[in-house]
Amino acid sequence: MVSAVDPGSGSAHLVYVSEGLAALVGQPASELLGATPDAVFAESTPPEQVDAIAELVAQGKQASVPMKLRTARDPELPVHATFLAVPSLSDGWPLYLSMFRVLGPPAAGDVPDSVSSNAPSIDHTELFDALAHAGSLDEIVIQLGERCESYLGAGSVVMALAYAHEPTSARFDLVRTAGLKPDVLAELFQAVRADDPLTEPRNVPVASLPLEIAIELQNAGFACVWVTPMLRNGTEVLGAVAVAHPDHDSPTHEQQQVLDAVARLAVVAMDRSRREADLALRALHDPLTGLPTRDLMTDRLDQLIDLSKRTAATGVEEGNLLSIVMVDLDRFRAFNDRHGPSAGDHVLTQISQRLRSVLRVGDTIGRVGPDQFLVICPQRRDDADAFSAAEELREAVIAPIELPEGGEAEVTASVGLVLVHPEDAVTPAAVLSNAEAAVDAAHEAGRDQVSVFDAELRRQLAARHELETALEEAIADDELFLLYQPIIDVASGQMIGAEALVRWDRPGHGVLPPALFIDIAEDSGLIIDIGEWVIRETCRQIAEWPERLAGGSPIISVNLSARQLSHPSLIPTVTDALSFYDIEPSSIGFEVTESMKVEDLERASASLVELASMGCHLSIDDFGIGYATLDYLRRFHMAHTLKIDRSFVDGLGTSREDTAIVSASVTLAESLGLTVVAEGVETVEQLEYLHQLGADYAQGYLLSKPVELDDAHLLWHRATLIPF
Ligand code: C2E
Ligand code: CA
Ligand code: CA
Repeated sequence: MVSAVDPGSGSAHLVYVSEGLAALVGQPASELLGATPDAVFAESTPPEQVDAIAELVAQGKQASVPMKLRTARDPELPVHATFLAVPSLSDGWPLYLSMFRVLGPPAAGDVPDSVSSNAPSIDHTELFDALAHAGSLDEIVIQLGERCESYLGAGSVVMALAYAHEPTSARFDLVRTAGLKPDVLAELFQAVRADDPLTEPRNVPVASLPLEIAIELQNAGFACVWVTPMLRNGTEVLGAVAVAHPDHDSPTHEQQQVLDAVARLAVVAMDRSRREADLALRALHDPLTGLPTRDLMTDRLDQLIDLSKRTAATGVEEGNLLSIVMVDLDRFRAFNDRHGPSAGDHVLTQISQRLRSVLRVGDTIGRVGPDQFLVICPQRRDDADAFSAAEELREAVIAPIELPEGGEAEVTASVGLVLVHPEDAVTPAAVLSNAEAAVDAAHEAGRDQVSVFDAELRRQLAARHELETALEEAIADDELFLLYQPIIDVASGQMIGAEALVRWDRPGHGVLPPALFIDIAEDSGLIIDIGEWVIRETCRQIAEWPERLAGGSPIISVNLSARQLSHPSLIPTVTDALSFYDIEPSSIGFEVTESMKVEDLERASASLVELASMGCHLSIDDFGIGYATLDYLRRFHMAHTLKIDRSFVDGLGTSREDTAIVSASVTLAESLGLTVVAEGVETVEQLEYLHQLGADYAQGYLLSKPVELDDAHLLWHRATLIPF
């Protein structure tokens, strides 16, 4: 039974009495309503006990005591009573639930048939126990549905809850489907709520529903659906109990009472779980978008993988393919840098809403990275259905987004799809990393597209893993070596220095260029060891570099990666190598690519200042291809040289844009007091053009490809490297 406490007088009265309890007490429930709770307590019950219970309940605590009830057959029937405060449902009056379990085996004839232990009754102690301690909200609501179904005897009971974050939404989360198809149910609820706020129970004849739903339900043998809302404060619809019933009739008075009770108890359970959920929500949900975090999504994935294995074991069900879609926003970091974090946040919330709007029943979405969303789809028909769902998610991203401070953002996403067939033995971690691999593939294929994780990607991933393992041994096994590409003075053609370029002689694979292993080394962290090796090896070889007869010594440059630059070992490595081989700091240079992210550059700034103050030469590599060129130059004020990227030199004299960019870069460098190296010079025409523009230095296949140390020494002694 449920009692309401009048906050004024402190006295309580009964607002709900179950049929079972009424039968036990021997009075109709309707007569007990409004009475004080001690109407059901045995005469002998000490008033202090009643007060103590009231006190505990008022403090929001739970009380569990043996006591006696005044029943029809036994005025002193021993029971175990549990009292539990529940948050107010209506009128703002505090409520508490009282549950009684009859102790000991009842003597024959002692208890009326209707409450004998196997007759279904809606306030079964187990149920309230569940409400008091047990599991999740879903578990409680499922139990309520089960009890309700067995009480009714006929019909299928569906339990649906409004989405936790949007109680006003017409969409329900199906907690108990009773074997009915989720999409049919979703449409059913949508149809029911389309023309009705659903503040009263309704009997919906199947024939009145949209044709497709009607056919489905009729085929399943149902004639009508009784829909009872779960209401808070009489208006807020928190969910619904729906009974698909074989007869056309409306529920009887008793049946409706049961349905009302189930709906009320579900609201009690929801209120109770709300506080806990709020707390859990904060830890497991991203504060910006309200979406589950990576941890929660991993959990959910774990459950679903398990479930998919179990259903497979019981014979595969149609329409139950589990698929995972990872949506990775393209160039989002650049967007954030350009427009600021609040515009970035706006875009993220907008996109999260759009992605949610195209989800289907049963899908879960989470934010698993700064610019990454994950959608788990447990109910796709087949591979093609899963793919089209991934396409829908990609398309949901691309419409322009209006920014609060004016202007529009156009965002695209690289989308990765993983299909989890029940026979695949997978873990959540593996599924996530496969999804990331598929995203990378979509990214490499040109962004704004969906890539599926398939056999080919699996093979690539395995090859990559193998390469990484082999690379770990490469230094110890002496498989790395350096080539040198000369840098020449444009006016004279004389070599003034060289760039050291690493190569890997991988057994069984031939000599690999850095493009095939530097990125992998960056990702795995091996770049630190490789970078140290390159610095030491370069220094060792500088020490052996011959003096030019006419004097002068070369500057040999090494390339530094972002990760290396922000690593604490960089400066010690350089100082150790310089002193060990007794080399002037001015004979070594470092190239830092302009495509490095600004925040990486900021982190690296201290190292760069340090290297410059030691007297080392610093170059900005690949100038022109980054997205924040001028900003970058400002931050990289300690550099000496600008290397204009090959892609612009390529169009020198043939492409107007390229020519303009190279010319502007030369002017810019001059005004900043930087020297210029043009990379990738392949033709005499390009070199002549550079000469006209006033570029200082050049590097490229026209002058020399990267060569072995001995050959570099020979080139060093030549008067000019310009071929005529
Ligand atoms: P980068 O620093 O831009 O190096 C220049 C690249 O352009 C070299 O490729 C060079 O062989 C190539 N190149 C030079 N002149 C021409 C030309 O006229 N035409 C064409 N088509 N290409 C030309 P490589 O040696 O394959 O190196 C590729 C990239 O790998 C380098 O680009 C650099 O970013 C990276 N790298 C090389 N060695 C190292 C290293 O020791 N550490 C790190 N972190 N990165 C390295
Ligand atoms: Ca370089
Ligand atoms: Ca370069």
